[in-house]
Amino acid sequence: MPGEPKAYAASHPAVAPYVEALLEPEDTVLAEIRARSRAAGLPDIAVGPFDGRHLEVIARAAGARRMVEIGTLGGYSAVCLARALRGDGHLHTFELEAAHAEVARESLHRAGLLDRVTIHVGPALDRLQDVEGDGPFDLVFLDADKASYPDYLAWAERHLRIGGTLLADNVFRKPRGREMADVIHAFNERLASSGRWRATFLPLEDGLAVAVRVA
Ligand code: SAH
Ligand code: MG
Repeated sequence: MPGEPKAYAASHPAVAPYVEALLEPEDTVLAEIRARSRAAGLPDIAVGPFDGRHLEVIARAAGARRMVEIGTLGGYSAVCLARALRGDGHLHTFELEAAHAEVARESLHRAGLLDRVTIHVGPALDRLQDVEGDGPFDLVFLDADKASYPDYLAWAERHLRIGGTLLADNVFRKPRGREMADVIHAFNERLASSGRWRATFLPLEDGLAVAVRVA
């Protein structure tokens, strides 16, 4: 309508097939990772093909050389992020489950990226200190247990450089239970209003927060 701002998150059913045909965002390397992760019994919760491409392009645009990912699963998003690294860059990715990390190691090997990525196994909040000496970081991607998002954000506020990029997946997720809804909402509010971040929320597959550390 004339005079009305464009609606948020409103798209057309023809957009996805159009962009899919243009980009073919899931190439054979990524398709193999998705299939092998399923076959290994991993939960089917990796980012989708479009969000994978979004992660890669945002990381490239940020010029990120030192990256941290929390929540590796089978390595799908790690491959997307690591593809954005230039020769001397490095991605540290954190995964609770040893079995998931094994699948991810194979994924990174097949993608030719194992030398640019370190997989840290164990609860991220216990392991993050192992990489703090490699910081401050240019980009942090959160995609693990949602209950710990506030703690991961506090870590990013200490170890992401000013001007660095925070990405967080699933910030529109309808959480199980009121308590989790409150946790994610408080996380989003901190990005929006704490004065430490300049944030936006992309209405992608499950909601992707994109924020730049400003203080
Ligand atoms: N980023 C992945 C998907 C991650 S799914 C992708 O898009 O390809 C979430 C992962 O976080 C799971 O593998 C789960 O085992 C892991 N996780 C859950 N709690 C964790 C914790 N405390 N520390 C590290 N990883 C955790
Ligand atoms: Mg996710």
